[in-house]
Amino acid sequence: MFICTFCKKSVPPRTGCKKVITKTVMFQHPHRPRVHKRWGVDKQGKPRIEWIDDKGGIGPQIVHEVPACPECSAEQEKKRIAREQTLSLIS
Ligand SMILES: [Zn+2]
Repeated sequence: MFICTFCKKSVPPRTGCKKVITKTVMFQHPHRPRVHKRWGVDKQGKPRIEWIDDKGGIGPQIVHEVPACPECSAEQEKKRIAREQTLSLIS
């Protein structure tokens, strides 16, 4: 049970909690060498571990998110899609 941030109602037991993202920032993730493991094969055909790089790059990072009931999270998702479509029309 939890209280929805948007409608301020207590949600019945066994109802799923949806997290609604309220704030993000663009973040520069650094390049990290040899951090991901993947299986490969050597020249004799034996399996061996290969370590590959994480490229890093710029992407959104969640700063703040709040719990919401399924109805409010669906409504917020519709608003978010409409807001992104408006922004894409402007730019
Ligand atoms: Zn709600």
